[in-house]
Amino acid sequence: MLLADVALPVPIARAFTYAVSEALAPRVKAGARVVCPFGGRRLVGIVMDTREGEPPRGVKPLARVLDDEPAVPADLLAFLRDVATYYFAPIGEVARLALPPVDRDAAQELAAPTLFGEARGVAIRRVRWVAATDRLEEAGVLRGQAAAILAHLRAAGATPVARLEERWGNARAAVARLEERRLVVLEEREAPEGPFSQPTERDSPHEATGAQAAAIGAIGTALRTRTPATFLLHGVTGSGKTEVYLRAIEAAREARRGSIVLVPEIALTPQLVARFRARFGDDVAVLHSALTPRERLVMWRRLRRGEVDVAIGARSALFAPVRALGLLVVDEEHDPSFKQEEGVRYHARDMAILRTHRAGGVCVLGSATPSLESEHLTRTGRATKLRLPDRARAQPMPEVQLVDLRRTGAGPTGDRRLSLPLHRALEATLAAREQAILFLNRRGFAPSVRCESCGKVATCSACSVALTFHKGASVVRCHTCDFEAPLGARCASCGAEGLTLEGLGTEKLEETLATAFPEARVARLDRDVASGKRVAAVLDRVRAREVDILVGTQMVTKGHDLPAVTLVGVISADAALSIPDFRASERAFQLLVQVAGRAGRGDVPGRVVVQTWNPEHPAVALAARHDVDAFLERELKDRQELGYPPVSRAALVRVDAPDEAEARAACAELARIARACEPVRSGDVLVQGPAPAPIAKVRNRFRFRLMLRAAERTALRRVLAVLEAARGSLPRAVRASIDVDPVQLL
Ligand code: ADP
Ligand code: ZN
Repeated sequence: MLLADVALPVPIARAFTYAVSEALAPRVKAGARVVCPFGGRRLVGIVMDTREGEPPRGVKPLARVLDDEPAVPADLLAFLRDVATYYFAPIGEVARLALPPVDRDAAQELAAPTLFGEARGVAIRRVRWVAATDRLEEAGVLRGQAAAILAHLRAAGATPVARLEERWGNARAAVARLEERRLVVLEEREAPEGPFSQPTERDSPHEATGAQAAAIGAIGTALRTRTPATFLLHGVTGSGKTEVYLRAIEAAREARRGSIVLVPEIALTPQLVARFRARFGDDVAVLHSALTPRERLVMWRRLRRGEVDVAIGARSALFAPVRALGLLVVDEEHDPSFKQEEGVRYHARDMAILRTHRAGGVCVLGSATPSLESEHLTRTGRATKLRLPDRARAQPMPEVQLVDLRRTGAGPTGDRRLSLPLHRALEATLAAREQAILFLNRRGFAPSVRCESCGKVATCSACSVALTFHKGASVVRCHTCDFEAPLGARCASCGAEGLTLEGLGTEKLEETLATAFPEARVARLDRDVASGKRVAAVLDRVRAREVDILVGTQMVTKGHDLPAVTLVGVISADAALSIPDFRASERAFQLLVQVAGRAGRGDVPGRVVVQTWNPEHPAVALAARHDVDAFLERELKDRQELGYPPVSRAALVRVDAPDEAEARAACAELARIARACEPVRSGDVLVQGPAPAPIAKVRNRFRFRLMLRAAERTALRRVLAVLEAARGSLPRAVRASIDVDPVQLL
């Protein structure tokens, strides 16, 4: 009898076996979506494998097959299996990452549209598209709009007719003439969807700089000769990495292969997306979290059917069903958001390398501040470094001035956090009618509220973190669990009246600036004012010069290209340094270099003022000199000495429970089991813990952890496999999970 092993979206690390009826058999293939009875429910799963065999006792039959052709192609299926293995993650949860979001709601499975036939339950608008054929026209027979439209179609690929009409008044007639000469074909296709699908002006590619041309050449050669390769594109801020990505995609296209571009947070990079759309038009699927499930499904279908061969999106676009994948670009590869911190804790950069490797393709990791991991890859011969050492239009790197807060007093506001040098620099920038960005990585008004009587700081009742005061909303809020409450008049601990607001958040900085510079137009960019599309609106206002000073959290450090920004101020370089994390220094360095890189990208040179209590700290001092190589060298040496990644491999075992003693005991039990393993006894794997997490309590659960480190992966995996098996025998109230290559250590 035919049996199918199906990955189901349940947190169990194996596939489930079902019997396949003769009627369903022809369509039950690896990668197909099927409906399965599961404990009284019906779930949508993916067939991982089929085989002939004796049906196991109590085996249930598959209820339905959803698609005529497998939803997940074979290469993607194999990749999903690799991801599950690497992260010790349930295959069903990994498989879910590769399906369009409609499937996530298993309860609605019967309304789930088929992916290949006509859609059911989902109305998808179809419009007329036109594409150039391979036919050559006789010289001189085309004139005017027909000639222009043909040139456009050849450069840009298939385009909806309506889109052409926005630009060429006689598009319809011109297209008819072109069709008569069989220079173009018309077809009905789904309408382009999504918030980025407004018409964009096509750009004309820049003439590549020498360094860009060399990088493009190396990537293009690997693509043409089908040599699997990983490149680290180390280009200073403003060096034109995007142009390299665009040309690499063109090279992939010429080799008839698809591309995926991963960006840290797509809502923060509307400009980058616009550049891709300007070059490739509607032949780009933009996978954005602001898309409705329906829009997402449309994108997914177009990719799966091969109608579109470029996908751009945040980390989950790693799983986009791009056909014949040849190129995977990870822009700002150092960004921590590429690590998913819940569910399947995968790192999109690391898995990008794996996916392209499997596909025999090329992976391009781009950054001005490469991660230690990527730098290590180049030093161990697993990646090739390509350099863009100068800005694209030869602008100088901005000059960085360190302001030593131990020796420098307050400016005219009387607030030391706005030092005299920074105040003067802002004045000069405003006087010159240029723009400034001020970076402060604390949102809210005041990061803590202290009782004047007992001295206690107000904390969240569910988490061991201080509550932040938000003035606009007039509440205190927990940034860990989002609990909020009005700020009471009395201390929750001793009941006395008299509370003091401490510290500085972006909301207060905005207010301070508005008072100090009444003529300046100040805007703020952080999670409180801007989510989703509103980020683009704030950035548009800055670009339109409707804002003089932009204040914000790490959101302002991202790849924005704002030519009129000539001053960048860092309120405190130190906050990032004091986090209990072996990557604190790396993270602080990256933030400083990235935010500094926002200055002086136009015609006027930029300057950067960094306020710090630690001007000698290597992360601060080397960032001030833009000396990325020296920092990487030094930091790698430190990691080597301390045995931390990327020189070693690490895994974090997280344990939490509502009862503190139970959580601690469970973690201690896992530690005991780990220490009994041979690789630990022989010293190949190091176990630290059990120890309370730096944030000891979150959402009323007490958190403990074990850190495991090893010089090589195999030994570490042996211990992790034992721990994974032991998880099942912990008390029910205890949650334990394995985080391979952890990023977030709090
Ligand atoms: P990065 O991502 O490396 O910080 P961008 O890709 O944003 O840099 O490019 C910075 C600026 O330089 C952009 O305005 C871009 O249009 C411009 N640029 C890129 N390549 C060239 C080139 N070859 N000639 C002229 N300008 C260029
Ligand atoms: Zn909380």
